[in-house]
Amino acid sequence: MADLTAPQFTDANAARQALEAVRWPNGPVCPHCGSVDDNVTKMEGKAHRPGLYHCKGCKGQFSVTVGTVYERSHIPLNKWLLATHLLAAGKKGTSAHQLHRMLGITYKSAWFMAHRIREAMKDTSTEPMGGKGQHIEADETYIGNKPGVKKARSTHHKHAVFTLVERSGKARSFHVDKVTAKKLAEITRNNVSLESTLNTDEALRYVKMGKGFKGGHQVVNHSKGQYGLGDHTTNSVEGFYSIFKRGMKGVYQHCSEAHLQRYLAEFDFRYSNRATLGVSDKERATKALKGIEGKRLTYRRINERTATPSLG
Ligand SMILES: [Zn+2]
Repeated sequence: MADLTAPQFTDANAARQALEAVRWPNGPVCPHCGSVDDNVTKMEGKAHRPGLYHCKGCKGQFSVTVGTVYERSHIPLNKWLLATHLLAAGKKGTSAHQLHRMLGITYKSAWFMAHRIREAMKDTSTEPMGGKGQHIEADETYIGNKPGVKKARSTHHKHAVFTLVERSGKARSFHVDKVTAKKLAEITRNNVSLESTLNTDEALRYVKMGKGFKGGHQVVNHSKGQYGLGDHTTNSVEGFYSIFKRGMKGVYQHCSEAHLQRYLAEFDFRYSNRATLGVSDKERATKALKGIEGKRLTYRRINERTATPSLG
């Protein structure tokens, strides 16, 4: 954990400079037209709020938060940086209630901030996971309760999640309507290199999918009491679900279906940038700061449908 009394967490100007250094390592870039260097000048003087730049290229003005999930917020930038750090650090995340208390802002503001930061954490890379000689573990789990669906011993009343974990690497999770062989195969094809070896449990839905993997399909038979023989394991994806479930239960309590994919993005992000892969809390927070760009529109669309915050 970084020093939470550091200037970028307590002072809005210091926060702005810290964010400029992360977003613009080679100097400011106009978010409207891409102009740089001499075409961009800092607007000095009392008439302007600090951090404002003028662009000769498009005659526009901008600051470092334009085009990011922090844009047009009344929350001071140092609180944004602190909230981003808190959500990026640790294993299980930080609830909107904790942010509300720690940052001295309303619960509603804290809730919206946390969801914007989750957007920043979303993995937008299209590079396939795995590859020759690498293992991909796939599994599904169920969480929460669908409103209005009777609780049963089966899983129909719960939300289904499908996760792909690159052994000793990153995780990608997907909220799916229904767990079907077709759906899981489609997600897997779009995210994984078929040169990899697939590792799953004995569920029949993986049989056909597994045949497509050049590295083969290794199956763990849990019903026969097998919990991993050599590298025939699904221990990584089970470990991921264990952190996810403890986090959702302990920190987030209730999570509606509309927001589940964003919570998954948050848990994927921390897992994919975990300490055992050599990523420090500070590096993880910096990575989240780099992700604030270009996600504003996505957020707005989601925001419009969910004007009223609920718990979680
Ligand atoms: Zn411009």
